[in-house]
Amino acid sequence: MRKRIIAGNWKMYKTAEEARSFAEAVKGKVSASERVEAVICPPALYLSELVQTMKEDAIGIGAQTMHEEKEGAFTGEMSAAMLQSIGVRYAIIGHSERREYYNETDESVNRKVHAALAEDLTPIVCVGESLEERESGTTVEKVANQVKQAFKGIHAANAVNAVIAYEPIWAIGTGKTATAEDANEVCGEIRSTVGQLYSDEVANNIRIQYGGSVKPDNIEELMSKEHIDGALVGGASLQPESFLTLVEAAENA
Ligand code: PGA
Repeated sequence: MRKRIIAGNWKMYKTAEEARSFAEAVKGKVSASERVEAVICPPALYLSELVQTMKEDAIGIGAQTMHEEKEGAFTGEMSAAMLQSIGVRYAIIGHSERREYYNETDESVNRKVHAALAEDLTPIVCVGESLEERESGTTVEKVANQVKQAFKGIHAANAVNAVIAYEPIWAIGTGKTATAEDANEVCGEIRSTVGQLYSDEVANNIRIQYGGSVKPDNIEELMSKEHIDGALVGGASLQPESFLTLVEAAENA
């Protein structure tokens, strides 16, 4: 059975004090589980501190982005090797906000996926269609193409360790969730794309999250779907109670 993964993407929210009080509030409340993996992706500034304060907890720490090179003259950036060296274990790659505001392309996403896997970070590779694409019926084409580009040149043995997050752009931060059926259908298409690229074995083992206005009141239904193996959560991951509820629901659904 695929282990579910609930990842909180804090985006650019929380002061250091607020990040600390979140860590305090969830301390001891998430136990290691066969069923669910819990991850928090805070602003880069707090990565190191949260890795330390949460090291006794079954909550992994992830970055919201990373650079594809190991090191170099890239002002403001951080590499997979640097993240790995402080105990970060995940990196969100190609979030739609990064693609939209910071010129991330399918090519740079692909380079980042290579770099993350080379450093044993779990990439959470984001794909998703715009409202216009959904309305014009090109959703599957769009996300299948994003998946193909993101995994170019990645070997099957590594690809299976990645996580794919299906996030329809129109559902992010808008309160509009894709219906669980629609989300499952697209996640199923992503799984068959992975099957075409690699094998049934990789397709059956790779984890695919849904993201876009996931909340405590819709998580159960989403988790009950065959192809949805967890969630990438923005807004509802900011409050400890709500994050814990999501993790618990994924454990029990
Ligand atoms: P949201 O964000 O849960 O606030 O819609 C999801 C995301 O951007 O990953």
